[in-house]
Amino acid sequence: MIATDSSTPGRSTGLVDRFGRVATDLRISLTDRCSLRCTYCMPAEGLVWLTKTERLNDDEIARLAEVFVGLGVTSIRLTGGEPLVHPTLVPMVARLAALDPRPELSLTTNGISLTRSAAQLVEAGLDRINVSLDTLDRDRFAELTRRDRLDDVLAGVAAAAAAGITPLKINTVLVRDSNLAEAPALLEWALRSGYQLRFIEHMPLDADHLWSRDAMVTADEILELLGAHFELVPQGHHGHAPAEEFDVVDGPGREHWAAASGHLGVIASVTRPFCRDCDRLRLTADGQLRTCLFAREETDLRGPLRDGASDAELGAIIATAVAGKQAGHGIGTATFVQPDRTMSAIGG
Ligand code: SAM
Ligand code: SF4
Repeated sequence: MIATDSSTPGRSTGLVDRFGRVATDLRISLTDRCSLRCTYCMPAEGLVWLTKTERLNDDEIARLAEVFVGLGVTSIRLTGGEPLVHPTLVPMVARLAALDPRPELSLTTNGISLTRSAAQLVEAGLDRINVSLDTLDRDRFAELTRRDRLDDVLAGVAAAAAAGITPLKINTVLVRDSNLAEAPALLEWALRSGYQLRFIEHMPLDADHLWSRDAMVTADEILELLGAHFELVPQGHHGHAPAEEFDVVDGPGREHWAAASGHLGVIASVTRPFCRDCDRLRLTADGQLRTCLFAREETDLRGPLRDGASDAELGAIIATAVAGKQAGHGIGTATFVQPDRTMSAIGG
């Protein structure tokens, strides 16, 4: 359903679903390829990559982004796979920044090679960056990502901060037999550096289907572990953001923190789902619209786009898909089935 603004005929004020949720946040996966092979995301051998013809080109991405913005999308996050392996990322950001109204633009990246492009990305109009980093230990990093690239990621994080991205957010997935015990040290590092750390619960979107609810590190467990070291003051959720926010007011190494207090975010997609407030849509690198990370169905936008559909026709297809968005992800219910696509092929 598209709600229209009576003061500006033809201008949409929102993509509304049957539960009254309004979709305003679009995640665009620029590529399914990646420079890492995180164990909770990709298989060791990688995936069967999309061909150039299967992938949307930059003109197609920009055209669809314009349609989405016309339908009320106000923020666009570029992701993947690894968006930094997309060769024309900087001009893509500039094209999106030229949209009217201009959406807020952000990037989720593993940080590798960010040293080369951070300043250009900011100049092109990028507003925010989240770098994914699960450990500060080189061997553990190599084990978790199957690549020995920790130094490149840390250099990328520093480059993003130097380019003026504030707050710089760090996304961390905790894995029980790997980096769980490192959570307090990661938080201390983030507080010293002035970054905002967010722990994300592991979701059943891994290629190897190794996820299990029992093995997953839950938000409760993360908060108990951190609460033993840090004084955390709950701040609730900010708007539709999935992260539960905390002020960190005391803890180890406080005299070296970048500010008197810091922030922590916990994204408990599995144990404390935020589906009721979800305002997200996802466009895969091959032009499929997904209204939920865990959707079993997708809506093809690439076919109609390449067949010459008008903006209004594309808008109607998108609106119908949004109207049918499922109520929630249903993880933990008897009928839950993990989607065929992995996180990297959806665009996290
Ligand atoms: N390659 C970029 C990166 O790693 O930031 C962007 C894509 S990646 C799929 C986006 C985010 O999804 C990362 O923060 C990553 O840690 C997270 N992620 C990947 N697989 C996940 C899973 N099974 N459960 C929870 N988060 C996952
Ligand atoms: Fe690549 Fe990001 Fe998936 Fe890691 S989480 S394999 S960096 S897409």
